[in-house]
Amino acid sequence: MTRYAFTPPAVPAVPIAGSDAVFPVRRVYCVGRNYAAHAIEMGHDPDREAPFFFQKNPDNLNTTGAFPYPPRTSDVHHEVELAVMLKSGGRDISTDQAQAHVFGYALALDMTRRDLQGEMKKAGRPWEIGKAFEASAPIGPVHPVAETGVLTEGAVTLHVNGELRQEGDLNQLIWKVPEMIAFLSEYFELAPGDVILSGTPSGVGPVQRGDEMEVAIAGLGSMTVTVT
Ligand code: MN
Repeated sequence: MTRYAFTPPAVPAVPIAGSDAVFPVRRVYCVGRNYAAHAIEMGHDPDREAPFFFQKNPDNLNTTGAFPYPPRTSDVHHEVELAVMLKSGGRDISTDQAQAHVFGYALALDMTRRDLQGEMKKAGRPWEIGKAFEASAPIGPVHPVAETGVLTEGAVTLHVNGELRQEGDLNQLIWKVPEMIAFLSEYFELAPGDVILSGTPSGVGPVQRGDEMEVAIAGLGSMTVTVT
């Protein structure tokens, strides 16, 4: 029996819809610029270039329904994203085999300190300070693929205080879910509990304390997150 020097932190986990089991999280990968309209709004070429990834910390996942406004920023942006949850993994997974590794899907937000991310981009520095902060990834319950079917199309929306801010469709993903899994597995060994945030459609923008963000993806229902 391992004797830990102090109580180890709890394993981050996400509820599973219709189950009393929870989904234990190992890693959180995020895809950048995976919708053409968002690439354009961020000042980039929408052509299909190789996807790129950054990570959030597993304990940044936030299932509370509240997003505490983070410190050291005055420009926090919402990014609504489909989260893909893996039940198995491996290296060099083929696109054809990739879907078989998907446990399910969840609604997620990739909350971003855009001002800090912008400074890091300009300086050629890592993005963690803009992306991987406390409670930065609000996420809803995992919907098993056995119940949702394979999600390849359907509306992705985000409203703030009832006003539509982001709107896209899963069929607009530049890199499809199986391609993302295959590509990631060339660089990392994927494993059960890995989560992939698949990128955000256009319309990202700032939120303020008190705002209510309502995110929805066809087939996954909706989730409301309040900025506190
Ligand atoms: Mn994102």
